[in-house]
Amino acid sequence: MDLGIRGKRALVCASSKGLGRGCAEALAAAGVDLVLNARGAAALEETAAAIHAAHGVQVVTVAADITSDAGRAQVLAAAGAVDILVTNAGGPPPGLWSDWGRDDFIRALDANMLTPIALMTALLPGMMGRGWGRVVNITSQSVKAPIAQLGLSNAARTGLTGYVAGTARQVAPSGVTINNLLPGIHDTDRATSLDGAVVKADGITMDEARARRFATIPARRYGTTAEFGAACAFLCSVHAGFIVGQNILLDGGATNATL
Ligand code: NAP
Repeated sequence: MDLGIRGKRALVCASSKGLGRGCAEALAAAGVDLVLNARGAAALEETAAAIHAAHGVQVVTVAADITSDAGRAQVLAAAGAVDILVTNAGGPPPGLWSDWGRDDFIRALDANMLTPIALMTALLPGMMGRGWGRVVNITSQSVKAPIAQLGLSNAARTGLTGYVAGTARQVAPSGVTINNLLPGIHDTDRATSLDGAVVKADGITMDEARARRFATIPARRYGTTAEFGAACAFLCSVHAGFIVGQNILLDGGATNATL
């Protein structure tokens, strides 16, 4: 399917690895020029070179912390007028409700709620002025069904979801859509680190930790970054203009719910 977005320009945050990289690759395959971001310059440059070599699109890189004011200013200056925004950042650490104080919540809210809101605030006016735009926020399945040890994530991402629910309906008349993609477990460094914590806590092997988790997923596997990227690229396509303010689970059926 031709996604109809060849020649558009996208900012994909936190995209040197994992889900962000999957989104960047799928957009590049559809002919979209990219602004990529991550903190570590080495992996970012490697990803940018691989994507440019594979798809021939323009790729600009900005090595910066997207959750800081200074980092965001750098990224936004390099991005200029973009048609597509994919927001993403690292997730908050796991723990227990009794572990967290105000500073932990402020960090989580900054990274996973206020950063995507600041990016939308900066970029939506341009999209609306041009009469076309796409925003995809990478959130989590924890928005639909809480993951107990990820309380910081549950809280921050649900806040973002509430913001998007209202804002998406305010910008839709200008041809701009905002939607959220909710990953269940995908095969990325983040999954390895979560499984590593289970290995440590329960004294089991990595294979056992993965097998335990596979058993909880009807698809009996983790998702791939390519599958995730393809869903993102479709939401950014010309075909998805009537999809507004939705929360789309990509979790292999793990969230046991009818709706
Ligand atoms: P990942 O494989 O660890 O990749 C994270 C990417 O984000 C890297 O490129 C990393 O590069 C960049 N990054 C992290 N913090 C950043 C920051 N402050 N500023 C700029 N770039 C940053 O993680 P992932 O699995 O793709 O996860 C992406 C998001 O989805 C996370 O919020 C995660 O919690 C959420 N999620 C993931 C899963 C899953 O199964 N993978 C499930 C549910 C939710 P640098 O480290 O160099 O900055």
